[in-house]
Amino acid sequence: MALIFSVSGVRGIVGSELTPEVAAAVGRAFGSFLGGGRVVLGRDTRRSGPTMRDGVARGLRAGGCTVLDVGVASTPGTALMVRKVGADGGVVITASHNPPEYNGIKLLSGQGWTLPAEEAERVRRIWQEGQFGGQPIEDAGSPEPLGGVHEEHVSATLQIVDAAAIAKRRLRVVLDSINGAGCVGTAILLDRLGCELVHINSEPNGEFAHMPEPIAENLDQLYQAVERERADVGFAQDPDADRLVVVDESGTFIGEEYTLPLAAQPVLSERPGPMATNLSTSRLIDEVAGRVGCTVYRTPVGEAHVAQEMMVRGCVFGGEGNGGVIDPRVVPVRDSFVAIALMCQLITSSGKSVSELVAELPRYAMVKRKFPCDAVRAARVLAAVREGFAGGRINEADGVRVDLAEGWVHVRASNTEPIMRIIAEADNEEQALRLIDRAERIAAEVG
Ligand code: MG
Repeated sequence: MALIFSVSGVRGIVGSELTPEVAAAVGRAFGSFLGGGRVVLGRDTRRSGPTMRDGVARGLRAGGCTVLDVGVASTPGTALMVRKVGADGGVVITASHNPPEYNGIKLLSGQGWTLPAEEAERVRRIWQEGQFGGQPIEDAGSPEPLGGVHEEHVSATLQIVDAAAIAKRRLRVVLDSINGAGCVGTAILLDRLGCELVHINSEPNGEFAHMPEPIAENLDQLYQAVERERADVGFAQDPDADRLVVVDESGTFIGEEYTLPLAAQPVLSERPGPMATNLSTSRLIDEVAGRVGCTVYRTPVGEAHVAQEMMVRGCVFGGEGNGGVIDPRVVPVRDSFVAIALMCQLITSSGKSVSELVAELPRYAMVKRKFPCDAVRAARVLAAVREGFAGGRINEADGVRVDLAEGWVHVRASNTEPIMRIIAEADNEEQALRLIDRAERIAAEVG
């Protein structure tokens, strides 16, 4: 494995690929890119967090920036503080859902967005070419602490729901925070929403009790706790608390693709308007938006693309099918706090259980595959796929997505590895497999 520099920043294994020196160089490149100013710095709970923070802070100061340290904080919380104090940028030390031996550096713009692809590329070039600029700020010890991240994030989140009504419902909630950055703030949020909280993996100590990606196979503890505690709902966050997945009242995982369409419902029913999501996200969201006459804009994969589209189109809501929802009223990045508050709102205002809410939506089958493919071959594969599916509605904003009556298939090259990803969704698994097989056959015929 090599150090990965993508739109979402740098990620790698601490000690081998990602060292304090690398962290300092990336910090310095970002400081140079910003041309000085103030940068808010947060981190998730990984053990390597403090060392990485010191490296990044040293680099930022060498690049001419003043560093405001919010301490352990979620990605959305850190982004919120960037906007709150009018900083010039933000950095989150996190490898998101990667295993504990990893860490990473995620860059945020002064608007609190994930840095757009072209700007991330400029930072990468400054770093790799060593063309640092900026007036170094003399190392004056530790970065300046900036308090209040959890309070600020919770109070902004409470503004978008009817907290008093939710509190009356006394929802019983099990939350798995994976001992990550969501532990402290999310407990405050659920308390303000009057929920009875059973909090598992609730110590912000970076000891991940299971593989940290919030997907079906990693959440057994949560399923059992929801059942045992007779809870109304179960939530799981990832280590930097930007993604959220939901478990119904029987302790059954409903699927990460349901977070966005469920969370969107209370928003769209109150303030109908356009939405944005990426091309690989389930068409469940088209169903939900379509019921209230709202448009869904599709973007290339990557949070920055969704956030940018939301800004350009004036979207009221957006996100990704991996459990990332974005409400621009709170902060323009994926936010598990927002997802939790909106789920509580939906359960309360509908008077329905989570399983009943899920049953109101279609059950689609999604199948994902990948195969090795370098950039040269990728271009030929995509051209062949476009031709092979010529009868469908084609979107080429990111690889090739084909919409057909029976479903859709999306073929795209990964941003971080020499692989091609194929995702298909249809009314049932058989149809989805047929679509994915057809795409794979086309790819296989390309030399
Ligand atoms: Mg994450």
